[in-house]
Parts: sequence; C-alpha cells; structure tokens
Amino acid sequence: MTRRPIELLGLVTLGAAWGLFEGSPGLTFAGAACGAVVWSAWDAVRAARLLTWLNNFDLSSSPRLNGLWLEMYDRSRKVFKKLEKQRLSSDIRLSNFLAAIQASPNGVVLLDDSGRIEWVNLTAANQLGVDPQRDIGQYVQNLVRSPVFSAYLANADFSAEIQINGVRASATHPSRISIQIHPYGSSRKLMLTRDVTAVELAEAMRKDFVANVSHEIRTPLTVLSGFVETLQTLPIQEPERNVYLGLMSQQALRMQSLVSDLLTLSRLEGSPAPGQGEWLDCQDLLAQALQEAKGLSQAISHPPHDIRSIEGPSFLVAGARSELLSALSNLLSNAVRYTPDGGVICAGWRLKDGSAEFFVEDSGPGIAAEHLPRLTERFYRVDRSRSRETGGTGLGLAIVKHVVQRHGGQLEIQSTLGKGSCFSILLPSSRVRSENTDVATVAATDLSAV
Ligand code: ADP
Repeated sequence: MTRRPIELLGLVTLGAAWGLFEGSPGLTFAGAACGAVVWSAWDAVRAARLLTWLNNFDLSSSPRLNGLWLEMYDRSRKVFKKLEKQRLSSDIRLSNFLAAIQASPNGVVLLDDSGRIEWVNLTAANQLGVDPQRDIGQYVQNLVRSPVFSAYLANADFSAEIQINGVRASATHPSRISIQIHPYGSSRKLMLTRDVTAVELAEAMRKDFVANVSHEIRTPLTVLSGFVETLQTLPIQEPERNVYLGLMSQQALRMQSLVSDLLTLSRLEGSPAPGQGEWLDCQDLLAQALQEAKGLSQAISHPPHDIRSIEGPSFLVAGARSELLSALSNLLSNAVRYTPDGGVICAGWRLKDGSAEFFVEDSGPGIAAEHLPRLTERFYRVDRSRSRETGGTGLGLAIVKHVVQRHGGQLEIQSTLGKGSCFSILLPSSRVRSENTDVATVAATDLSAV
C-alpha cells in the first residue's frame, strides 16, 4: 500500500527535478505533471494485466504485477481457489447423488417448468423408451406417447399414480409401468416410474385363483345343498334316497380332494425346498405308485388298463418321500383317468446322462400342442368333463411341477393328438446314486455303471 504514493511521488519529483534542471518554473510543473501521467499509465497497464487475468481466470498463470495490484491478484487468487475447491466438492457430491439415483431400481425423470426433460436415469429411460442423452430438453409428452399419460399431464392432478404399457409391451410379453409426478420448486416436476408388471401379473393370478377356487367349490356345494333340500322336503323312498346319498358323497369327496390339493400346493409353496432329504429306492417308489394306479384303474375302467412296469436300473434318489410319491402318483393317475378303458400304460425309471428320469407313457387321447405350455397352470384343463367325471381337481400337474422344481428337476411333456402322451420327471445327477454307494461318495459315483 505504501509503495503506490512513493512510486507516484518519485515520478512526480523526477519530472519536477528535470524541470528545475532546465531552469524554468513552467517546465518544473510540466515535468511533475508528466511524472504523474507516466505513473498513471503504468498503473493502468498493471490494472489491465490483472483484468486480463481475471477475465481468463487461469489459476495456472500469474500476471507480472507488483504493489497493490499484486496484493489484489493474490487475494483474488485465494478466493478463486476456495471457490474452485467448493465447486469441485459440489460437483463430486452431485455426481455421487446422480449415481445413487442412477442405481435406483425405480425410474427418475426431472422435468423443467415447461415439462422438458432435464435429466433421466437409465431405468426410466428403458421403461419409457427415452434416450438419456439425446432426449434431454425434449418435451416429455412428445416422447411418452400414451393417451393416459397425456391426460394425466393435461389434468395436472398428480395425487395418484397412473399405469401405462411399457415400450416393449406385446401380447406375449406384457409390461406395465406405473408413473407418478411430484411437483417441486416453483413449477418443476419429479417423475417417478416403476415396473409393476410382476405385481400386476401376480394380482391377476390371485384374482383368477380366487375365482377358480370359488367356482370349483360352488359347483359341488350347489349340488349338495340341492340334494339336502330335496331330502328334507320330499318323501323319498329308500332306493332313491340311497342314490341321492351316493351322489352327495361323491360331491363331498370332490370338495375334499380339492381342499386337500389346495393345501398340498400351499404347503409346497410355503415351505423351504426339501434339501437332500432321504435316499429313496426308485423301484420302491414306482411299485407304490403303480399299486395305487392299478387300484384306481380297477375302480374306474372296465376292463382295467394294462399297466406295465418297465424294467430299468435300480438306484436311489434323494428327496422328500411324500412329495416324490405324490408326483409319481399324480402322473400315473392322470394316465389312468385320461386313457380309455383297457388302454396301455407303461411306467418306469431310466438314467439319462447321469440324471434320473421317471416316465409314464399312455395310449390315451394325447394333447394338442397349443395346450402343452399351459398344462401346469392351476385349474387349466383340456378335457374339463373327463377331469370332473374322474374326480380331477385341475391341480395335479401344478403340484407335480412344484415338487419337481423343489427337487431341482424338470417336468417334460410330450404328446401327439390321437396317439398318447409321455410325462417325465427329470431329477439332477446330484440327487442320484447307486444303491451301494454311501452318501459321502455320491459325487464320485459312476452312474453309467449303475
Ligand atoms: P386334472 O385334475 O384335471 O387331471 P391336472 O393338472 O392333473 O388336472 O391335468 C391338467 C389337464 O391336463 C387335465 O385336465 C387333462 O386335460 C390334461 N391331462 C393330464 N394328463 C393327461 C394325460 N395323460 N392324457 C391326456 N390329457 C392329460
């Protein structure tokens, strides 16, 4: 600070001294004035250097300055450095914040006050078919072409969410996206999107399931209450009465099987997978299931079916006995129930690349290809009346599929209309071992030698 007056004084004195030296008072004054002008010009040059530096704002360069200007430069530089540090840390915080929103499983879109996209995360971009770079600045209603969404924006009532079809939705691959807008700031908007396809499907399945169960129970109940009313109100002879009671018992049994299958399904869904379970003799399981099937065939088929046990290797399979037995029995009872009287049914075990395969082949009516993918759905029936007549609940194959999946296996169905069907259960090699191998050496078992 003290340098400036000294510099000025020095130059003025130098100019005045020159005037004095020349011997004229006028020149003394002019010399002093010249000294002041030179100092001002020099000062202006230093101010210009500082201004240029401020304009360029390049922290790596430093202008040639001294005195007050150097001090101003130093102070400005310190302030700039502090601001730069703050900017960098806000940038890092902003990018961390955006990375966190980016990682969110839900979609986030920031809209400006005219509804133009300011920022969109990848989830929302995929769900809405928006390009997260190219479409910045575009009006959102021009990109999300759904009448429901347009009406939502137009009504400006954002108290509830709406649902639209996802961009990749098709008849075979439904996709539903929920959108809710939350206004914030002056008139900006935060738009949240969520893929609700699975929730919607689960809800639709739940409704279907409840409707199906109610229907399945209502039918026998109606029949039962009809007979009860008849027996209560009409004078009925003994033989007729016995017929009615027989029919009533049939309907009661039907409800009983339905409830029992529903409980089985719910138990399978609600309990953890059975782990390794116990080691079961596959031929034992087959013999038990065949015995039940033969009993059923004798009861409902005249003449009974020709049920053959196909000879195969004897080995052990790991799993829950009751579950595996119920799966085998379900497949065999289906073969018995859908194969015409006296038809041929073959069942057995075989080994396939180390996996165990249980198969049931029948000479029944076969199943058209379009039904095959839906057979394991609950209550899906191809031949509804045959299913009912033979006491079917429409849940048998759903139970089989669950049991097989819980054991890490697969249910395979092959069928040709008019020729017959082959249902097989494939259990993974980890669940198979030869009879004489102890559990510890299962992994080393050479299954081809079984
Ligand atoms: P259901 O109790 O009605 O038999 P399932 O789930 O066991 O129910 O079977 C579903 C449907 O698959 C049956 O209604 C039937 O139409 C068809 N189905 C199952 N097994 C056979 C088979 N062996 N031959 C022909 N159709 C079959």
